[in-house]
Amino acid sequence: MDIQRLETAALHAGHDVTNTQGTRAVPIYQTSSYVFNNTEHAANLFGLKELGFIYTRLNNPTNQILQERLAAVEGGVGAVVFASGTAAIATGLMTLLRAGDHIVASSSLYGGTFTLLNVTLPRLGITTTFVDASNPEEFKAAVQDNTRAFFVESLGNPKLDVLDLEAIAEQAKAAEVPFIVDNTVASPALLNPIKHGANLVIHSLTKYIGGQGNSLGGAIVDAGTFNWANGKFPEFTEPSAGYHGLVYHEALGAAAFTFKLILEGLRDFGGALSPTNAFNIIQGLETLPVRIKQHSANALELATWLEARDEVAWVNYPGLESSKYHELAKKYLPNGQSGLLTFGLKGGFEAAKKFTDATKIFSLLANIGDTKSLIIHPASTTHQQLSVEDQAGAGVTQDLIRLSVGLENVEDLKTDITNAFSAL
Ligand SMILES: *Cc1c(COP(=O)(O)O)cnc(C)c1O
Repeated sequence: MDIQRLETAALHAGHDVTNTQGTRAVPIYQTSSYVFNNTEHAANLFGLKELGFIYTRLNNPTNQILQERLAAVEGGVGAVVFASGTAAIATGLMTLLRAGDHIVASSSLYGGTFTLLNVTLPRLGITTTFVDASNPEEFKAAVQDNTRAFFVESLGNPKLDVLDLEAIAEQAKAAEVPFIVDNTVASPALLNPIKHGANLVIHSLTKYIGGQGNSLGGAIVDAGTFNWANGKFPEFTEPSAGYHGLVYHEALGAAAFTFKLILEGLRDFGGALSPTNAFNIIQGLETLPVRIKQHSANALELATWLEARDEVAWVNYPGLESSKYHELAKKYLPNGQSGLLTFGLKGGFEAAKKFTDATKIFSLLANIGDTKSLIIHPASTTHQQLSVEDQAGAGVTQDLIRLSVGLENVEDLKTDITNAFSAL
């Protein structure tokens, strides 16, 4: 099947029903391992002379369908799934980099990613310079001899800054390093970073792709466009001590990083996705294109309504004309700007906490991208570990409230917010 368009690929890519006894739904292959035909077959699989399933830490038929589907909807040559978005990011960076390497990253990142780059990876000798991603020149200025990756979020969580991906991709190209884009908040239904120059795309599948708040998962989609033989990545051009002297770039070409992620990343770090979670996430991916339209429409409607309320000091949603990211949103997110919005109350920090405690439909929890509406006050929760300066870099002010607008009737959401205002 030659699948082209998003809605069709989200439903069909990767699943040839003749390989699954005709099952119309993708089956859950809930197994840890696979019976070999004989010892020769086993030796061939381990030696990569034949491709096939060995052990679910490396691959699994349900996971593989999800991988092919994600590659199709993002326009990559391959994808690898992980136990969570965090496992995808950590395994991806540990597979790509070595002690002594350096990353240039946007300061506007998911709190967990920021801490990984700012605290944990430096302990292993991998350092990061954080830059204001609204100025692509800052990436160029931060490049060092040992820089080996650029890392950004296409739509920052929770700053909701829309980046000029093409301008940053140009700087990554000049520096000859892969451009890694976490596309979790936008989702592949609204933005495909590969079309704008990204080499690797990251997703927390836990969010809009799974979409129902029931399963953790993560993925890396490989555009297959990066030249690993440019002299900066010897582990792709020299025999791999960890895999029988395999020379990834020579043997696997455009799929070199995808295979390295499986053969070394999953083998050594072990962050494999459970097949049952892969199944749950596939159910979500199938309806992502229709869901994300309604998330976006509800968020725009609420943002517009909030802007006109007396209690509200400011509203940030890239779909609003008042947003400083509106022009970039028109270019990069023309079909909707996803379901997150942030706002501040005139009463500041104390009012934000009171308001957050008073909503009834919006659940107070640390997640986004659920069908149900969610609320959080990042300064006291997700970004509590960050210094005030790092919070500012991430766009987190003391008064900021983040909403993940769900699929409820938007009039009921307005009523819930109006009731919470009267509690102030
Ligand atoms: C949630 C999130 C992550 C981490 O994903 P988990 O599945 O929670 O590990 C990474 N990046 C962004 C933008 C996120 O929102």
